[in-house]
Amino acid sequence: MNKEKEIRNVLDKYLLEIKNESSILKGNLLDEAEKNFIINNANAFIIGLIADQSVKAEIAWSLPFRLKARLNTFDFNYIVNNLSIVDLEKAIKEKPALHRYPNKMATYIYKAMVKIIEDYGSDAVKIWENQSADIVIKRLEEFNGISHKKASLGTLLLIRDLNKIITNKQYIDIAYDVHIRRIFLRMGLVDNDNQNNILEAARKINPGFPGELTTPFWSIGRNFCHATNPECIRCPFNNCCGEYNKANEKQPV
Ligand code: SF4
Repeated sequence: MNKEKEIRNVLDKYLLEIKNESSILKGNLLDEAEKNFIINNANAFIIGLIADQSVKAEIAWSLPFRLKARLNTFDFNYIVNNLSIVDLEKAIKEKPALHRYPNKMATYIYKAMVKIIEDYGSDAVKIWENQSADIVIKRLEEFNGISHKKASLGTLLLIRDLNKIITNKQYIDIAYDVHIRRIFLRMGLVDNDNQNNILEAARKINPGFPGELTTPFWSIGRNFCHATNPECIRCPFNNCCGEYNKANEKQPV
């Protein structure tokens, strides 16, 4: 069995084990009201995705619901016509702050609201409705604050957590984040921390849907492969991990 196939088998088993546990919108990272707000409001989904940087996922994805509570509205037309970026920043900054970078988030969020009004008739659902993954990713990347990594993650979440029908999943890359970079390096799947190399390695492991690898790798990173003191004995990947096998003088499968 080749290395990619072996890793895919381990990942498939692990995915079944964790099921919804690591899912942002189906698991227990958010409370029910926060979750339902994202699930039922495409505009809130975009704002959550924009907020998903430099803070824990639960903080980012709870931001839309909490921002709505602070503004007393989530009507983008009302907000754009009556409030400024400074007003949004004040609402995000209010203690407890909704994000580590209130100014940057307020700017990104305000611009996203304007874009959704102008390009999508005030309804972000038009970004992905009956679309191919490459188009959805390209559209998401057009928002300030949404990188390729976040566009890939957002498209994965639409499929995985919101059951949206998006075709051509082969275009959805793994979300190149801190956990994934660390694990790919430690496992010996890449020689250096380079986004293109990691995306390419993920495409080889799961060519039909590389983005599907985001969930198990992210979960392994949070639960076992910590930046310091990784819990290799408990890690489901240890049999195919270069670093672990080197330390134990075994050949990885
Ligand atoms: S075996 Fe250890 S180093 Fe390798 S991926 Fe698992 S936790 Fe990380």
